[in-house]
Amino acid sequence: MKSKNKTRIITIDGPAGAGKTTVSKALSARLGCVYVDTGSLYRGVAYEVCRCNVNWRDEAELAALLSSLSFELKLQAGGTPRLFSSGQDITDYIRTPEITMLSSDVSAKTSVRHALLGFQRQIAQNSDAVFEGRDMGTVVFPDADHKFFLFADLKTRAIRRYSQNNNAGCSQQTKTAQPQTLAEVEEAISKRDQNDSSREEAPLKPADDAVMIDSTDLAPDEVVDKILACITAK
Ligand code: C5P
Repeated sequence: MKSKNKTRIITIDGPAGAGKTTVSKALSARLGCVYVDTGSLYRGVAYEVCRCNVNWRDEAELAALLSSLSFELKLQAGGTPRLFSSGQDITDYIRTPEITMLSSDVSAKTSVRHALLGFQRQIAQNSDAVFEGRDMGTVVFPDADHKFFLFADLKTRAIRRYSQNNNAGCSQQTKTAQPQTLAEVEEAISKRDQNDSSREEAPLKPADDAVMIDSTDLAPDEVVDKILACITAK
C-alpha cells in the first residue's frame, strides 16, 4: 500500500476494551490525520442485516444485502467518524449490545470481510490515517508504516466498557438497549474476543511486526506517548 499511495498509515489492533478508540482518536488529533473506526463498518453491516431482516447465515441472502450496501464514513481528525448507509446517518444506532454481538458474528463471514476490504483501502489512498480494528496490521494494511497491538486484562477491559456505557455522553449509543451489568459486559467482551480470535478469516491477532502495548495499568495519554515515541524512533 505504502509505495502506491505515499500516505502514512498507522494501524491499531486489539481486543474490545483495550483502549483502541480513545488512543486512536487522541493519536490522530496529535498527528493531524484522520481516524478510521473500521469496527463501525462491521456494525453497519449488522445494523442493515437487522433492519432488512436478512438471514445472514444464508450466503445468497447475505450476498444480496452486501451488493446493495452503500456506506460512507465522514472522517475527522480526533473525532468519531459518522457512518452513513444509503445517505442515512446510522452512527447512533450501531452500538447496542445486540448490534455489537451481531457485528462479531457477521464479521466472521468471508463475503462480509471481502466487501469491506476495498472500502478501507480506498480511504488510505487519500489521507494519512490511524486505522483501528482487528486485522489492520495483518490483512488490510500489511505494509503499514507503523503497527500497534493494544491489549489489557479482561477485568480491566470490562470495567472500562461498563463505565463508557454508563457515561451520560454515550447515552445515544445505547438508547434503544437495556443497560448491561458489569458481569454481562465482561461476558459479552469475552465471547466477542473468542469469536474474533477463533474465526478462520482475518482472526484477531497481532501482526508479526506490531509493537505490543499492555494498557492494563496505563492511562490513555501514556499509551499515546508510547506510540508517538515508537513512531519518532522508527
Ligand atoms: O471495534 P468494534 O468493537 O466496534 O468492532 C465490532 C466488531 O467488528 C468486532 O467485535 C469484530 O468482530 C469486528 N471487526 C472486525 N475487524 C475489524 C474491526 C471490527 O472483524 N477490523
